[in-house]
Amino acid sequence: MWKNKGLFLVISFFFTFVIFASFDIPSVYATTKVVKNGDYKMTIAYDDDQLKDVVSRYETTFKRTYPPMADAYNPKKARKEFFVKFEKNKDYPIAYTLGNTIYIHPDYAKNNPDDQGMLVHEMCHILQAYPNGVKVPSWFVEGFADYARYRYSNLDNWRFPKVDKNQKYTDSYRVTARFFMWINHIKSPGSILKIHQRVQNNYYSDNLFEEYTGKTLDELWQEYQQKPGPVESLDWKIADNKARYNGETGVGTWVKYMEFFYIPGKQNYIHTRSNNATEGNVSYKIVDASTGKEVHAYTTSTLKQDSISSIEPLGKDSGEPAEGKYILYVQIPKGMNIDFEFNHGNKFY
Ligand SMILES: [Zn+2]
Repeated sequence: MWKNKGLFLVISFFFTFVIFASFDIPSVYATTKVVKNGDYKMTIAYDDDQLKDVVSRYETTFKRTYPPMADAYNPKKARKEFFVKFEKNKDYPIAYTLGNTIYIHPDYAKNNPDDQGMLVHEMCHILQAYPNGVKVPSWFVEGFADYARYRYSNLDNWRFPKVDKNQKYTDSYRVTARFFMWINHIKSPGSILKIHQRVQNNYYSDNLFEEYTGKTLDELWQEYQQKPGPVESLDWKIADNKARYNGETGVGTWVKYMEFFYIPGKQNYIHTRSNNATEGNVSYKIVDASTGKEVHAYTTSTLKQDSISSIEPLGKDSGEPAEGKYILYVQIPKGMNIDFEFNHGNKFY
């Protein structure tokens, strides 16, 4: 992930050309940790004790996400081993990936320990491993890495931006990632993965979109802009502390849906999607399981068919309860049919 747009092409260039270069860990690093999960190995080198905590989070993120991502994005030739190094590079204030090494700015890592999605994005670059010289545009490379981030990084402070007319698919990163979600999960299932595999097999052309979806890239984009679809309510993540309810028809009273364990400071959200012509306001409340006291209540705006509401019910802005067990209740207007998803913190961190 990089903030400065001017850097993307540069990075992509290097990424493409030195992908098979290998790097040794220099001896200046005081601590080298080797983290394993099955056949896979991540070696992290750091020389600053303040990085210890974030490094242990990277270990957890690696163990949880690298193996399934390898299965999904490079099942035959995924790198078994890669390196993470910390580097103060003013041109790269967050992170970048070259070959088998992820470089992370130590200040960014220290100040943003919750940003595990950044590591997921970079690990996706490790797995993309597009061959030297394949002419794949950086918006595809970065859009795909953010697509992977969206699917595999369950909880960091990161959302898709709202779809709007000023966007272009070449905007890269999240804008492209959302478009890829729509193509791969709504419009033409699996087609983005097929295009990704073609790039891994040393070929890219915009025409691949037409080959796998039946529509040109521009036609897809136009259709997407008209009807960007319920991407946010799809079952996209591997988080195991998430609940989805599909096709719930309201009875007009409070219904107990689930008990959950909340960890303060962790992201949580509820996505609600309306499925039928019955419009209405869906209410949520969260109650302390031990005291029965209500800690949060929320009512959506009036939802019309296919509209989506997203909220973060717990947290700094809405009153953060103590760590512990809570119960989610939902009230759906009579006859209204909704899908909703509740994601309630990240126990991996
Ligand atoms: Zn990237």
